[in-house]
Amino acid sequence: MVNPVKIGGVETFSTVDFPDKIAAVVFMQGCPWRCPFCHNAFLQDGSAADNFIWENFIKFLNTRRGILDGVVFSGGEPLMQNGLSSAIREVREMGFLIGLHTGGYRPQHLAEVLPLVDWVGFDIKAPLSEEKYKIAIGGVNHLKEVKESLHLLLESKVDFECRTTCDPRILTIADIYAIADELAAAGVKKYFLQKYRPVESDKTTSDADCEQFFLDAGLTDHLRKIFPVFDVRR
Ligand code: SF4
Repeated sequence: MVNPVKIGGVETFSTVDFPDKIAAVVFMQGCPWRCPFCHNAFLQDGSAADNFIWENFIKFLNTRRGILDGVVFSGGEPLMQNGLSSAIREVREMGFLIGLHTGGYRPQHLAEVLPLVDWVGFDIKAPLSEEKYKIAIGGVNHLKEVKESLHLLLESKVDFECRTTCDPRILTIADIYAIADELAAAGVKKYFLQKYRPVESDKTTSDADCEQFFLDAGLTDHLRKIFPVFDVRR
């Protein structure tokens, strides 16, 4: 059987990747971006060999009916894979809820899978300006696609959150204000700040550098005011 999607790895039990749900996470191999804060660099190469056979994942899910609520398609970037919707359909037909983690690459593909998805975790990497976004995703200009995907989510009835990893090497507190104000004005209701944990090559960023975003009461108070749901993940 041919794999509908290329899998880089599987987490069999997670309570943190799909809000209020117990889920398995399937990590799609391949990502068009090179975020400096990426902890999943091994998933970036779309031409790498499969680490996991789809059929085996389905067999595993068969043993988890009634134990897991859902399955999260994460990455890498799931929208890179043309077989994503057929993979999601197969899991959905087994009775599992579907979560999707994405940065919004390929909005046309997002439009195709959105009707099959119960929740989306949408990564916003930087203020929505070409220059800043390009730095945050490693040098490519995909801001138009990100904005289109955000628009699709806002127009859909699908539950979603936006979240930003606060890498102090590329984002300032002023940047977080800019991101949040733009998202709130667009109609985003749920926003989360995630702590950056230095990648192996980063020998200079201190914990205090990473914490500064969460210790700024002016910023966190502002975010609590403008979003019905706001929290930090550290
Ligand atoms: S989008 Fe995700 S997987 Fe891709 S480079 Fe960025 S952090 Fe890594």
